[in-house]
Parts: sequence; structure tokens; C-alpha cells
Amino acid sequence: MARFIITAGPTREHLDPVRFLSNRSSGKMGFALAEAAAAAGAATTLVAGPVALPTPAGVERVDVVSAREMLAALERRVAQADVLIMCAAVADFRPRRMAAGKLKKGAMERMLELVPNPDILKRLAPAKGGRIFVGFAAETGDPTAEGRRKLEEKGLDLIVANDVSRDDAGFAVDTNRAILIAADGELVELPLMSKRELGARVVEWCLRRLELDAV
Ligand code: C5P
Repeated sequence: MARFIITAGPTREHLDPVRFLSNRSSGKMGFALAEAAAAAGAATTLVAGPVALPTPAGVERVDVVSAREMLAALERRVAQADVLIMCAAVADFRPRRMAAGKLKKGAMERMLELVPNPDILKRLAPAKGGRIFVGFAAETGDPTAEGRRKLEEKGLDLIVANDVSRDDAGFAVDTNRAILIAADGELVELPLMSKRELGARVVEWCLRRLELDAV
């Protein structure tokens, strides 16, 4: 049985117990991927940032808040996976410090010093081995060029690139228009489809690749 780990949603980077930096990711694409993987019979773990979505049937869910928590959750589990799909919109920066209590207005500016978050895919690269690593690239420019660049930079097998500047694809909607770009040069331009359908296509790609690798 194939084993999938899929990440979904945004991360939250807290400034104090009530304030945080985050982004518009709804988690829908990652949850659709987990649903598709479980439906295909894979043992599926979903590592989710804070989202308001029900857990798909047959999926083990691990909730995390920050990028560093997501990294730690994956470091503990990646060795047991055949496929890692990083669909989460990880916050690029976090406040250098988190205040233990709610900050007074005047103290907020001082606390807004940012430091970069770890790149989770790059940090997990030493554990990749024969595993399949898939990334997502949300772009507002040329999704194919940017996707290829990220595929190489992060050492991935596949990247799912999409143009988030259109209102029918990307954040918070139920549809997506994506280009699948594989490390071996394969390029599949998919038409507008539901996130559920796109999830199934990406899971199929991974399962086919696992079969080919096993030969
Ligand atoms: O570089 P960019 O954030 O556009 O790359 C997107 C891909 O990298 C996604 O698969 C995302 O989940 C992953 N990522 C990551 N760690 C980060 C930022 C993004 O693994 N800190």
C-alpha cells in the first residue's frame, strides 16, 4: 500500500497570542489531494495548518500552526512515506519573537522584526532518497518558467504550477487550472477543473511513478 503525506492550508506565525501573519490559503487543494489519495487506497496523512475544513474519510490528520511546527511534524514522519506532496502555503517569514501576552499597541511595531522561515522542502531534501516529492507553485507571472525554476531549486519530481492572478484558479475557490511539470521534462497543461479532479490527477501521477520506480 502506498503511503502519502500531504500538507495543506496556510501557516500562522504568531506575534502574540492573538495576532499573527498568514495568507489566504483555504486548504481546499491539499484536502482534495488527501481525499483522492485515500480514495485510491493509499495510507494518507494530512498535515494541516489552521483551516476550517472537515477531515476526509480514511485520512489521518495532524494539525499544526506555524511553519516550524509543520517542519517538525514532517521530519518525524517523512521516513515512513513513499510520497510527500507539499501543498501548504507556508508563510515565508515569522516575527523574530513571540510575546507571551497580548501586545500593547505601542509595542507592536517593535515586535514586527521578521526572520525567514525554513524552506521545508529544502530541509527535507536529505531524507528524500527514492521518495517522490511534489511541490506547488502559485504564480502571478509565467507559471511554467517559475515552476521549472522551483522544481530544480527544491529538487522535486513534480511541481504543480498555477496562475493565481485569475479568479477561477488558486486561493479559496473550488477550481484550479494547473500545469504539471516533471523533472524528466514531461509537461501536462490541464484545463480548468475542480480541485477534487486536479487532486485525483496529481495522485494518479504519483501512483504511476511509484509503479514505474518499482519495475
Ligand atoms: O518558493 P515557493 O514558496 O513559491 O515554493 C512553493 C513550494 O514550496 C510549495 O510546495 C510549498 O509548500 C513549499 N514551501 C516549503 N517551505 C517554505 C515555503 C514553501 O516547503 N518555507
